[in-house]
Amino acid sequence: MKNLSALHRDLTALDGKPYGAYRDLAGTPYDLGDGVVFTLDRAQVDPYAPPSLAHLSVPLALPEYRERGQKVAAADFFTRAFDAAVSGDRDLSIGRIGQQVLERTTAEVREDHLLVRFTVALPAAGRRIKGRLASTILTQRLPEAARRLRGVDRAALDRHVALHQDQEWLRARLPELGLVAFVGEGSILPRRAGDSDEPLRGAVPFASPESLRREVTLPSGRTLAGMGVPEGVTVIVGGGYHGKSTLLRALERGVYPHVEGDGREWVVTRPDAVSVRAEDGRAVSGADISAFINNLPSGEDTTAFSTTNASGSTSQAANLVEAIEAGADALLIDEDTSATNFMIRDERMRALISADREPITPFVDTVRSLYRDAGVSTILVAGGSGAFFSVADHVIALDAYRVSDVTERAHGLGGEAPDAAARFRRGTPRVPAGLSAPGKRKPVAAKGRTLIRYGKATIDLGPAEQLVDQAQTTGIAHAIDLLERRLGSGESLRAAVEQVTELIDAQGLSALSPHRGHPGLYARPRAHEIMAAVNRYRGLEVS
Ligand code: ADP
Ligand code: MG
Repeated sequence: MKNLSALHRDLTALDGKPYGAYRDLAGTPYDLGDGVVFTLDRAQVDPYAPPSLAHLSVPLALPEYRERGQKVAAADFFTRAFDAAVSGDRDLSIGRIGQQVLERTTAEVREDHLLVRFTVALPAAGRRIKGRLASTILTQRLPEAARRLRGVDRAALDRHVALHQDQEWLRARLPELGLVAFVGEGSILPRRAGDSDEPLRGAVPFASPESLRREVTLPSGRTLAGMGVPEGVTVIVGGGYHGKSTLLRALERGVYPHVEGDGREWVVTRPDAVSVRAEDGRAVSGADISAFINNLPSGEDTTAFSTTNASGSTSQAANLVEAIEAGADALLIDEDTSATNFMIRDERMRALISADREPITPFVDTVRSLYRDAGVSTILVAGGSGAFFSVADHVIALDAYRVSDVTERAHGLGGEAPDAAARFRRGTPRVPAGLSAPGKRKPVAAKGRTLIRYGKATIDLGPAEQLVDQAQTTGIAHAIDLLERRLGSGESLRAAVEQVTELIDAQGLSALSPHRGHPGLYARPRAHEIMAAVNRYRGLEVS
C-alpha cells in the first residue's frame, strides 16, 4: 500500500496537469499513518462538477455495539465528529447534519474498523490541477480530521448510543403502552426560527397534565415522566398563538430520534405516524377516496380517483388514504394546513345543502370509524371549531404553552353527534402499471430537500413535512430507481416499497445506491416518504 509521502508526491506530480488527471488517483489506497487508509473513489470530471467521493478506513473496533440501532447511533456520532473536524473547511465535507439521528451512508461501524465517507472538492486553477493545494487538503487537513475521529470522547460516544437506544426502545414500546406518542417533562418544543431546527432559547418547558402523566423506566435505568397521548382521537385546542402547531410539529418529528440538547429527545411518536394536510394542485393516481368523497357532479368514480390538479379537500382525502395504504397507524392533522370542508360541516350548512348534494363526508364523521374499524388514531389541532369535541377521546388545551386536560369540560358542552353511518374502509393496495419517466437518461436525483428530478419530470415533496433532511430525499431518488425495476409485474406499490425496506435491512443502506463502490452521501427515508414521492409523480399509472 502507498503511504502519506507517496500521496504527497503523486499530488504534486499532478500540479498543472489537465483536471481529468485527478482520475489517476482513484482506487488507490493510501495509508495516512496509524493504519488510517484514504481512498479516492470517484474523481469529479471537472472543477465545477459535484465534488469527488472518497472514504477513510479508520482502525477502530467497537465490539460493544452489536445491534443495528447501536451501530447506527455510533455511526451518527462519528459522522458528527468528522463534520465538526472539517467545519470551516471548504473542501472537505460530510454533508449537512441536522438534529435527527438518521441512518446514513456517511459512516459505518465495521468489524475492526470505521468507514467514513465524505466528499472532497479537488482544487483547480481554471481547468488545471492545483496539486500542492490538493496535497495540503489530503495529506495535512484530512489526517488531522482522522486523528480527531480516533480521539473521540468514548464516554460521550457511549452516552450518544445509550440515548438513542432509550429513545428507540420507548418508540417501540408505545403500542403496548397504548400510546401514540410521548412528550417528556421539560421538553423544549419550539424551534429558534422558521429556518432553524435548533431549540428556542428561553422557551417554556413542556409540563404534562396530571391525568395524562405516565412514567417509564428506560433500558439505561433512567425513569422518565411525561405526557402519554393515548390511542384513539385526541384534539388539541387553545387560542391562536398558544403553541398548538408547535406541539403537533414536535410530534411529527418525534418519529425520529434526536440528539442530546435538541429539546425533543423525549418527544417520541410511533414510527408510522403520518402528517396529513391539504395540498391542492397535486396529482392523484387511482386513490380510493370514496370514504370521504362521493357523487361528484362530474360523475367521476372516487373509488379509483385520478386527477392532475386536486382541490384542497380531494388532496387531503388522497393524502389520508395514501398514508393508511402505506401503513400509517396514526394521523397528525393541523387546522392550519387543512381544508375546512374536508374536516367539518356545521349544522346550518347541513340544513341548507342536503346530504345528497354534498359529495364530501367530512372527517369529523369518519374519524371514529377510522380508529374503531381500521385501528388508526388521530391527533388533531382544532382551535377554531368545537365540532370534534364529541368524537374525541381526549381534548387537551394549550394556554400560554401550558397543557391541561379539558376532556370533561369539552364533553360537557354537548353538541351534534356526527353522522354515525359514516364508515372508513381500508382500500385494496394499488398496483401501478409500471414506473418510468420518458426521456430519463440519468439516475433519479434530488434537488434539495423538497424536489426530485425524475427524467424530465419533477416531484414536489415540499408538503411532506416529515421529510427532514435533503440526504433522505437523495435516498428516495435511489429508491425510485429501484422501484422502476420492481413495479409493472403485478406487485402493489406498498409491497414493492416493503421490499426496498427489506433490502436496506439485509444489505445496508448503501445497497440503495445506483453506483458501485462509494454509494454517495445519503440518508434513509421512511417508507412513507418513498411512497409519498411515487404518489406525487404525475406519470404514475395505476391499473
Ligand atoms: P398556534 O398553533 O397555537 O397558533 P404556534 O404553535 O404557531 O401557535 O406558536 C406560536 C408561537 O409561540 C411560535 O412563534 C412558537 O415558536 C412560540 N412557542 C410555542 N411554544 C412555545 C414555548 N413552549 N415557549 C415559548 N414559545 C413558544
Ligand atoms: Mg397553529
